[in-house]
This record gives sequence, C-alpha cells and structure tokens, in this order.
Amino acid sequence: MTVNTKRLHVITWGCQMNVYDSGRMADVLAPLGYAPTELPEGADMVILNTCHIRDKAAEKVFSELGRLRLLKLAREAEGRKMILAVAGCVAQAEGAEILARAPYVDIVLGPQTYHRLPEMVARASRAAGAVIDTEFPAEQKFDFLPDAAAPQGVTAFLTIQEGCDKFCSFCVVPYTRGAEASRPAADVIAEARRMVDLGAREITLLGQNVNAWHGTGADGLAGLVRLLAEIDGLARIRYTTSHPRDMDDALIAAHAEIPALMPFLHLPVQSGSDRILAAMNRKHTADEYRALIGKLRAARPDLALSSDFIVGHPGETEQDFEATMQLIRDIGFAQAFTFKYSPRPGTPAAGAGMQVPEAEKDRRIYAVQALLREQQAAFNAQCVGLTIPVLVTGPGRHAGQIGGRSPWLQPVHAIGPVSLAGQVVEMTVTASHTNSLTAILKQERICA
Ligand code: SF4
Repeated sequence: MTVNTKRLHVITWGCQMNVYDSGRMADVLAPLGYAPTELPEGADMVILNTCHIRDKAAEKVFSELGRLRLLKLAREAEGRKMILAVAGCVAQAEGAEILARAPYVDIVLGPQTYHRLPEMVARASRAAGAVIDTEFPAEQKFDFLPDAAAPQGVTAFLTIQEGCDKFCSFCVVPYTRGAEASRPAADVIAEARRMVDLGAREITLLGQNVNAWHGTGADGLAGLVRLLAEIDGLARIRYTTSHPRDMDDALIAAHAEIPALMPFLHLPVQSGSDRILAAMNRKHTADEYRALIGKLRAARPDLALSSDFIVGHPGETEQDFEATMQLIRDIGFAQAFTFKYSPRPGTPAAGAGMQVPEAEKDRRIYAVQALLREQQAAFNAQCVGLTIPVLVTGPGRHAGQIGGRSPWLQPVHAIGPVSLAGQVVEMTVTASHTNSLTAILKQERICA
C-alpha cells in the first residue's frame, strides 16, 4: 500500500477531456505517494493542464506560471521543492518556448505522454534539469495507465478516442493531440464497469471526434454503445464531440433503438454557409447537415440538438453570416456554444486574407447568441407541464433541494431527499429558466 505523503495540485483549463486527463494524471502519480490537494500553496507538485482553444491561451498560461513561480520560490526558501509541470495542448504547441520563457518550469508534457509522468517526476526530482516530452509515442498511453481510482460521482466521463484527422482550417487539435486513435472496446467496457461499481449511473463517452471511434472489439461507436448499454446499473449513455461526417446510419439507428442512449446530441456545424464550410475544410454542406438532422429526428423524434458556431471566419461576408442565422432558424437548437474566430498559430486560417474586423465579429456574435438564447428559452419552456425522468445527482443549491439532469442535459431542481441520488425518478416540470428547470417529484424510483 502506498502512503500518501506528498500533495498534488492540478489546475485544469478547457474541455471535459482535460478534466478526465487531470484525473488520470492524479491516478498515475498516486503510487508515488501524491494525493490531491485543493490549493497550490504547500503543494509538492503543481500541474497546469492547459487548453489551446481559447483566445490568448499561451499568455494565460504564462501569467499563471508567474504566480506559481512565487510559491515555488517561497517553498525553496524553506528548503522544500515544488515540481511545476505544464501539460495539455499549450504544452504540446509551445513546447520549448515554455522553458525558454519560464525556465523555472520542471516538466513540459503533451497530452499523449502523461503515462510517462512518474519517470519525468523522478528525473525532475533528481534536479537534472527540465524534462520535456511532447512526442506522439508509438505506444498508446491508455495501455500504460493504472485503472482510474477516484469515483467521479453519479455522472462520469470516459475518454474513448483522441486526436483528429479532419484538419479544420481554424483548429489546433490535429497538431496538439495527433491523429485519431481509439481505445479497444474491452478496455472501455472494463473502465465503464468500474465507474458503475463506484456509483456512476450516466457515462459520457469523450473524444475530440468521438463518433470516429474505430477501436477493436465493436463495430464503430454504435456497436460500442450497444455493448455498454448491456452493463447492469448503467442507466444513461451520452457521447461528445461528434463530426457530422462520421454520423453513420448505424449510429442514427442506435439513437432509435437504445433507450439508454440519451436524446441529446452535440453535433457542431460551425457555419451555415457552404462557402465558409468549404473554407473551413468541414467537408459537408449546410443542406447535408439539415438532411442529417432530419434523419436523426426521424429516428428519435424527441432528440434535442446542440452545436458550435464560429462567427467571423476569414472571408465571412454578411451573406454568409445570414446563412448561419437561417440554418439556426431552420434547425432549432436546445443549446449551443458560440465563438468569435481568432487565429491559432500554425493553422491554415490564421494566415488567410480577408480577416473580419473585430467590431463586425462582435456584432455577429451578439446576434447569433441572441437567437440561440431565444431558442434555448423556448426549448426549456416547452418542458413545463411535462413529467420527465430525471437522474438525481445529489443535493441542490438550497436546503431541502435535490439536483438532477433531464434526458436533454438540462439541470433540474426539486424538493426531495438526497437519498434519491443515483436514481432515475419522475418529476413534473413546473418552471423553466434560462439554463435549468424547476420540478416537483412525481414518484420515487421508476427504473434501476
Ligand atoms: S473535427 Fe473538430 S477536432 Fe478535428 S480539426 Fe475539426 S474542429 Fe478540430
């Protein structure tokens, strides 16, 4: 048995895949005696798990590193060491630049090498200089990781796929996470079973391009979902993020046939203009996306949709933007994420001409957000009066309240006992809000 004598603080930025990675880095360091701590003060090791998607990502990392450097110096003045590591996509993209600008950093590791952390920590502890490992190693990191140790709760995330081969004009993922790689079905199922044993009732399968999953042991993501749906005690399955090009008929049929597969899909379209979709290298048109949604809704009529939209991609005219607004009106989204285009170094769009002025991007993003807010409010309002199955996740924000999740990913609050956590119960929705629903408990425990 390992005695936890050292404290590990992990700061996570970005998507759910980074949250999952942070948990796995903690798992990999546990045998070395590292136990998680809430604060960087007093930590023996701090990991900054970074994200390259947001604007000025690298600058934010350097600013945080400046703050951590003071803690590291204070600790050294007391004769103790603090190992400082930068992980994730900024580490992958900036690599040596991080060590040049912040020489007090001990370890720089890319998203594909965190299974090698113990070795890197050993080298950093010997004060043999900074360690940098941003390779795309031949071995698969998942084969070298210990079983996930910490329970995530009633809802859990499970990474099944990483990387991307699509090379959208604006995106750094193919450069920071590498080519598409899928975990074998047997590993995914074993991890899902462990999560269920630890209390998970809903699992969201994660991947940069999750519906491109092509691991061994199942026929595509549809086959994998069918196998997972057989796990006793697993009530709900979701997956994110998907690419429209990988949405095949088998997966559409899975939405019709597998009750555990929730009727909510995040399927980014990015733009409603064919000209911009081509410039983005998305390899589908707006009408192909409309047709795909038609097939999905025919298979699962109560399916709610979410998407990502980028406004102001180089070359986007007023007419292109209006095409995006029209696509949003045509489809109707339950929620969505919106971004103003901003260049990512090394991506094709960054060097493109016809950049859209900032003020114009601002005008477009306000318009698109206003329309999407209206649609989200309308979607939530139409739930009022319905009795829906809610997965209770734990206590709510106020005394006596419980919180849960609708099938369409809306947070739901009701008065009820916390002992219902982990159960799917019927609730009648009494009010809708911008991002959530209020409900009353109908009856306890309608399914296992
Ligand atoms: S499909 Fe997604 S992850 Fe891949 S390049 Fe395009 S936006 Fe990036």
